[in-house]
Amino acid sequence: MCLPTSYRFNHLQITIPLMKYELIQLPYEPNALEPAISAETLSFHHGKHLAGYVNTLNGLIEGTEYAELPLEELVRKSEGPIFNNAGQLLNHNLYFTQFAPNKGGQPSGKLLDAIVAKWGSFEAFQQEFLNACTTLFGSGWAWLAAKEDGELVITKEPNGSNPVVQGLRPLFGVDVWEHAYYLSYQNRRADHVKDLWAIVDWDVVASRY
Ligand code: MN
Repeated sequence: MCLPTSYRFNHLQITIPLMKYELIQLPYEPNALEPAISAETLSFHHGKHLAGYVNTLNGLIEGTEYAELPLEELVRKSEGPIFNNAGQLLNHNLYFTQFAPNKGGQPSGKLLDAIVAKWGSFEAFQQEFLNACTTLFGSGWAWLAAKEDGELVITKEPNGSNPVVQGLRPLFGVDVWEHAYYLSYQNRRADHVKDLWAIVDWDVVASRY
């Protein structure tokens, strides 16, 4: 647990606040996810938007009981500004680590089985997911998530919410805030989501299932 480090220097009590959350490192090159996510979009989305959520959250929880909670529990138990920023941190940490260059295709194994059991085919799932992305009004997220018994669902989360709030396990999320695509796609949200399929690392998604 990250607690402030205190020590005495001469007659002064020095406290070094340790930041609980850090900005995740991206496991790919800035231009590796083009065209779905351009280097310019990535630099703002990761380096400005996500960094802002990290810094704001650290400031909000410092010295409070919320600083002791694991991130998912923090999202489930908080509200207001802490919930908004913690939710966005959880969302983006999952989002940025589910993509890789030259991936795409289909999942396999029990994740594919569960998708087919629910929607009939992978293509039917993709259509349903795209529909969730394009009908979400305003800012938010579409998620593929799992119930405790393994059944899959697609949820539409407003603003910074995450399926953990409903007791679901988040597997794959698409950010439909305009900051996620507007520099390259402007109003064409559906085109952006369709291009994302080419960079989904289904092995990562399956590992969350
Ligand atoms: Mn975002």
